[in-house]
Amino acid sequence: QTTRQTLVMGNWKLNGNKAMVAKLINDLQAPAAQHPNVAVAVCPPVLFLGQAQALLTDSPIALGAQDADLHSEGAFTGENSAVMYQEFGVHYVLVGHSERRTLHGESDAMVAAKFAAVQQAGLTPVLCIGETLEQFEANETQAVVERQLQEVIAHCGIAAFSKAVIAYEPVWAIGTGKTATPEIAQQVHAAIRTFIAGFDTTVAAKIQILYGGSVKGASAAGLFAMADIDGALVGGAALQAEEFAAIISAG
Ligand code: PEP
Repeated sequence: QTTRQTLVMGNWKLNGNKAMVAKLINDLQAPAAQHPNVAVAVCPPVLFLGQAQALLTDSPIALGAQDADLHSEGAFTGENSAVMYQEFGVHYVLVGHSERRTLHGESDAMVAAKFAAVQQAGLTPVLCIGETLEQFEANETQAVVERQLQEVIAHCGIAAFSKAVIAYEPVWAIGTGKTATPEIAQQVHAAIRTFIAGFDTTVAAKIQILYGGSVKGASAAGLFAMADIDGALVGGAALQAEEFAAIISAG
């Protein structure tokens, strides 16, 4: 049996300022150091990556970015590339977050191209997948996540998943206060791992599959106790040091 390290990742979204970045990172140093068995990462807005990198020197907390353009450079006004992130010590890059898919019209094909660009820069993509409430109610969850995975597998090959993370985030649970029960989440995580195993059993056994959607300190332990839930991608609660520390402690 492969043992997968628990990974707790904070997605700060469009929040923060210099003072908040300094305080939040400072407040997270001790909880992260006290749980060396849990991998911890934070994804601040791009503008604060340099500040975060400096504050995280010699820290076990890894740095992540929330999105990357599919190009490494060129005439793409307003974008940031994985190659640039590399210079700021970024380790993880979220790709295909539901807010990117819905608010920025990112297609499965575009998400796959971004996944490839992140890997080409030597960074680890965190592929976010998940169904909407309408799809959940229509029992389409498995079909939706398989379609989202299939596009990336077709574009990048299954071997690409040996250096990647998957985040299952039901859209109806993101920022809504509604968390999937550990049992519902486990069912989908197991289905995701089985789907990957259909291509490569070694990759399937190794890949970390995070749950995301209103995770709090109080709900983390129940989720992490599930066989195929290997950590959490955390939005709202990642902005509160105590709450995020409680999630780390549950790992
Ligand atoms: C997210 O944005 O990835 C997320 C899970 O947000 P929240 O924890 O606020 O639901």
